[in-house]
Amino acid sequence: VDNVHTDDLKRVMELMDGFKASKVLFTASKLRVFDLLETRPGLVGAEVAQALEASLKGTECLLEACVSLGLLERKQGGSSLLSILHQEVVYENSRLAQRFLQSDSPSSLLGYMEHCDELVWPLFSHLESAVREGTNQHAKVSGKTITTNNLFQDVYYFRDAQKLQFMRAMHSIAGVAGPAVATAFDLSRFKTACDLGGCTGSMAHELAKAYPGLSVTVFDLPSVVEMSGSFCPPGADNRVSFVAGDFFKDKLPKADLYILARVLHDWTDEKVHALLSKVSDACTPGSAVLVVETLLDGTRSYPALQSLSMLMQTMGKERTGSQYTQLLRQHGFGDVRIAHTWNFVDVVLAIKN
Ligand code: SAM
Repeated sequence: VDNVHTDDLKRVMELMDGFKASKVLFTASKLRVFDLLETRPGLVGAEVAQALEASLKGTECLLEACVSLGLLERKQGGSSLLSILHQEVVYENSRLAQRFLQSDSPSSLLGYMEHCDELVWPLFSHLESAVREGTNQHAKVSGKTITTNNLFQDVYYFRDAQKLQFMRAMHSIAGVAGPAVATAFDLSRFKTACDLGGCTGSMAHELAKAYPGLSVTVFDLPSVVEMSGSFCPPGADNRVSFVAGDFFKDKLPKADLYILARVLHDWTDEKVHALLSKVSDACTPGSAVLVVETLLDGTRSYPALQSLSMLMQTMGKERTGSQYTQLLRQHGFGDVRIAHTWNFVDVVLAIKN
């Protein structure tokens, strides 16, 4: 009984502190602590404080919090003069930080982190209103009333700096989830794909890498396509191209495989039906749609929390695998298969009847 009590108390304490842990992660990332310790591993607290132009007291608290959360490692003594003289502890990036928190890592999540800190964090302080009202909270944070017609233009793309921040966020998630998505199913029989709402082209490049016979068209709003060039990976080949348009209004490019990656979760059921109906009309029998979303499964917290994030930010929500299966069947897709990747997103493949 005592163990159960202690475990429960530990869990409640962890949950109560969740927001502090997130903010430690966001702040250390924003201050570029992990980049500093990549180039200069083994610094003492005072050296980190000096490099960050921050207070010693605050920096030491932050570094120790990072150690407790597994983001940094604390070692005894280092090679710098200060650490030798004072036999102080020094700090280094943990393996997790090297992989996900250094800005030059191919799996860097710094873009997503910045988005969570600057946009999602303020929205979440209005969670109670979102629950009461059942709608996004942009009006409370930026004073803008968001309808289905102005979500991207008025929130994410209102200024170029915001648009680039959003694109960096999408790019970093797709960079981490891309390889798992590309290989969740064998897609080698498809010759042409169209990534609807494909943003920076990160997923498209990942698919092109995995399938040498595949060409991918990224279809996104003109203001996004205009800036996608700066995200092109080095050495990328010309099998990825970009077409600007509005997937609710314009004709969709022809393809054997349509990809909808983290697009449907932005929209109401009505808009999802409109988009799936357009995709279905563009498909010939045997062509397919690949829906890439975080699937609610009634157990994992990540999808459930992500669904709240969609409530706070968009017109949509996350859905279960069977909800997507049903939606796809209603639009003439059969042989619906689901793959859980245990990454940010899961994958649903459905073939046009
Ligand atoms: N697919 C990308 C990924 O998985 O990282 C980006 C997902 S992001 C949540 C949604 C994307 O849909 C954005 O790139 C946005 O510009 C695009 N989008 C939104 N409305 C659109 C529209 N009406 N026509 C075309 N693209 C649109």
